[in-house]
Amino acid sequence: MTTNEPLWHGQAHMPTVARSRRVIARGDGVHVWDEDGHRVLDLPASLWYCAVGHGRGEIADAASAQLRTLAAYSNFQSYATRPALELAGVLADAAPMEQAKVFLTSGGSDAVDLSVKLARRYWSAVERPRKRTIVTRERSYHGLHGFGTSISGLDVYREGIDRLLPDAVRVPYDDWRAFERLLADGGSEHVAAFVCEPVIGSGGVLHAPDDYFANVRRLCDEHDVLFVADEVIAGFGRLGTLFASERFGLRPDILLFAKGVSSGYLPLGGVLVAGRVAAPFWDEDSTLVLRHGLTYQAHATACAAGLANLAIIEREGLVARARELETTLASVLRPLERHPLVEQVRVGEGLLAGVVVRDAATAGRVSDDAWERGLLARQIGDGDVLQVSPPLTISPEQLAEAAELLAASLDDVLA
Ligand code: PMP
Repeated sequence: MTTNEPLWHGQAHMPTVARSRRVIARGDGVHVWDEDGHRVLDLPASLWYCAVGHGRGEIADAASAQLRTLAAYSNFQSYATRPALELAGVLADAAPMEQAKVFLTSGGSDAVDLSVKLARRYWSAVERPRKRTIVTRERSYHGLHGFGTSISGLDVYREGIDRLLPDAVRVPYDDWRAFERLLADGGSEHVAAFVCEPVIGSGGVLHAPDDYFANVRRLCDEHDVLFVADEVIAGFGRLGTLFASERFGLRPDILLFAKGVSSGYLPLGGVLVAGRVAAPFWDEDSTLVLRHGLTYQAHATACAAGLANLAIIEREGLVARARELETTLASVLRPLERHPLVEQVRVGEGLLAGVVVRDAATAGRVSDDAWERGLLARQIGDGDVLQVSPPLTISPEQLAEAAELLAASLDDVLA
């Protein structure tokens, strides 16, 4: 057993799932170790984020150098820090949008809420103040701050919380015609933005049909709706392109990100805004009149870590690597579909997949068994899906090994 009774203070730590007493102590590459030295292959890359793998001294060195030089200084009004300016430049240059501007946050939920504010502010600024409604897709997840909780496609996060954003509408995740009908039924007048994950992550790794996004983007253009891509999971190489929108040939008006931008080494996220959409937020003196600021926005040390992380992604060709490995991933996971406990294997672009197991209880038993065998397999969706989103550095052999371990655990649970 890999419990840590004497050291356990889990009762005080709210996010801890009571069932689990696993304390992750160390990481290197695609593996992490618990405090008892038990090694597991990190199949979800922690919470989808550890793109470059664990134990990258280069990121630690960059963060440490920044901590020693200037740990932090607010990036507010007339002041900025060098890592913030550099990271903003790198991201804006790479973004799939014209003359992008970027607002750096401390994570994805911050970025979601700012995106919703920006969308509404934009329509107010161009004198279309009735455009207020935010449309999202069923089963989508957009973080847990106020707006994110309001617009998520997973009802469970709204339970017991009253009076959230009233102007939030959900459409099916796989039927663009539902969005078309909404716009035709007067929606044009009041829809401000369509917010979507290019591939739904936490909701269970759900892909849209091939023609879905092209049609949504077209409808957004025809009806003056801002297209907002939530790339918190899918960005930074996960789908085999730097930005997930690129994989679908999309040019979002607003693109928000987190996780992979720093591989989670320090909390970082942000919102990229196309120049056209950002324009109303600058006055004639080039002063930003956004009326939005966060103490830790563009945090200097987090930005230094982000820059070091992006340098690794580029130097090691991890974006192309994720694309190359997508066929390997599909070929090692697909055979699992023949297993009596597996309902479906969801594969698609890049290193992102889901293995749908009979039910949540079964998935939990598979996950527990896999842990003992040396594989960390996390449950998502309604608890019935095992998340596959390894570090982009994973080797084909390690992908095959992960699939073998999953198969063995499925067999154990069936026996
Ligand atoms: N959007 C998506 C698509 C996410 O997956 C997440 C986090 N899993 C968020 C937003 C929220 O990000 P954070 O947890 O960093 O606030």
